[in-house]
Amino acid sequence: MAVSNCIFCKIAVGEIPTEAVHASEDFLAFRDIVPQAPVHVVVIPRIHRDTIMDVEDPQLFAGLLAFVQETAVKLGVDAEGFRSVINCRANGGQTISHLHVHLLGGRFLNWPPG
Ligand code: 5GP
Ligand code: ZN
Repeated sequence: MAVSNCIFCKIAVGEIPTEAVHASEDFLAFRDIVPQAPVHVVVIPRIHRDTIMDVEDPQLFAGLLAFVQETAVKLGVDAEGFRSVINCRANGGQTISHLHVHLLGGRFLNWPPG
């Protein structure tokens, strides 16, 4: 169910028009508004969960990561590689409280992150 003040729920139901790079019944991938790499996509479950810690059904993770895999292929970053990041709560730097995976690629990404 959509959470009324959640920006990603609004994107998921089309209330905020956003061009999808990959979409399914349960998941959606769209370009980050402040890209940190040539390819920077946000992947969300359409269902609202605040954080990775608020998921009860592990099947959601299976579906989400399979969808990330498909998205990477669709964007052509699978062969050269990419990074998937899930920020969680304050210390993780999470700014939008709707579970999402950042898919970053198109350049070499340094490690460790800041
Ligand atoms: P977080 O910091 O929570 O891990 O990531 C949230 C991401 O969502 C940020 O990278 C931010 O740039 C992106 N973002 C925030 N608002 C919007 C929006 O309205 N549209 C899109 N496409 N991305 C957004
Ligand atoms: Zn939401």
